[in-house]
Amino acid sequence: MRFDGKTAFVTGAASGIGRATARRLADEGAMVVVADIDEEGGERTVSLIHDTGGMAAFRHLDVRDDQRIEAVIDETAEEHGLDVLVNNAGIGHPEVPLEHVPNRWRDRVIETNLLAVWNGCQAAIPHMKARGSGAIVNVSSIVAFRGMAGQAAYSLTKAAILNFTRTVAGEVGPDGIRVNAICPGFIETALTANLAQEDDIGGWSIDRIPLRRVGKPTDVASCITFLASDDAAFVTGEALVVDGGATS
Ligand code: NAD
Repeated sequence: MRFDGKTAFVTGAASGIGRATARRLADEGAMVVVADIDEEGGERTVSLIHDTGGMAAFRHLDVRDDQRIEAVIDETAEEHGLDVLVNNAGIGHPEVPLEHVPNRWRDRVIETNLLAVWNGCQAAIPHMKARGSGAIVNVSSIVAFRGMAGQAAYSLTKAAILNFTRTVAGEVGPDGIRVNAICPGFIETALTANLAQEDDIGGWSIDRIPLRRVGKPTDVASCITFLASDDAAFVTGEALVVDGGATS
C-alpha cells in the first residue's frame, strides 16, 4: 500500500473532506493523526478508521494557536515520524458584502484558513528536512481563481494559499519535500450545507458543472492522497482542481 509505514497529520479531520482524507490515508496504510478543534467528531473519525483495521489517533488542536500546532506536530514527528501534512481545516463566514464584514470574522477566517497553513508548514518542514522527504497538501478552493461574492475573507485566504504553496515548494524542493494545493469545487459537507438549495448551489446551477453533480468528500480525498503519495513524486508547487469541470 502507498502509505505503509508512513505517518500523516491531517487538520480539520473531524468532518467532511478532512475526515474522508484521514480515512483514505489510513486505508492505504498510514498511521493518521486526526487533528481538530471538534473532539467528538475527531474521535468519531478515529473510531471509523479503527473499525476498518487502520491506525489513527486524535489530537485536540485549534489551528489558530500557533504554539499548539508546533507542539502537536513536534510530538507527532518525535513519536512516529512525519511524512505527510494535510493543511485542511477551514471555515467560511456568513455571506455579506465586504463593507459589512466585521473585523473579527475577517481575522478568524484569516487565522484559521491562512495563518494555520503557514504555521503548519513552518512546524513540519524542519522534521521533513531532517528525514530528507515529505509531502504537504494545502487545501485551497476554486474561489482562489474566480473569487466569490459575499466571501471576501474566504476568497482572500484561498488565493493566498496558492502563491504560498508555490513559494514554499520552491524553497523546500531541494530537500526532497513536495508542497501542493488542492482546489475543490462545490463539495457536500457541513461547510456548504447552508449554501445548497435544490439545484442552486451557492448561486451556481448544477447545469454549469459538466459532470452534473456536486462533489463528495471522497472525490477530494482521493486527489489529496494522490498528491501526498509517491505517485506524484515529480509534482510540486501545483494546484489540482477537483470541481467536476465547473471552472474548466
Ligand atoms: P467541514 O466544515 O466539514 O470541515 C472543516 C473541519 O475543520 C471541521 O472538522 C472543523 O471542526 C475543523 N476546524 C474548523 N476550525 C478549526 C480550527 N480553528 N482548528 C481546528 N480545526 C478546525 O468543511 P469541509 O468542506 O470539509 O472543508 C475542508 C476544507 O476544504 C476547508 O479548508 C474548506 O475551505 C475547503 N473547501 C471546501 C469546499 C466545499 O465545497 N466543501 C470547497 C473548496 C474548499
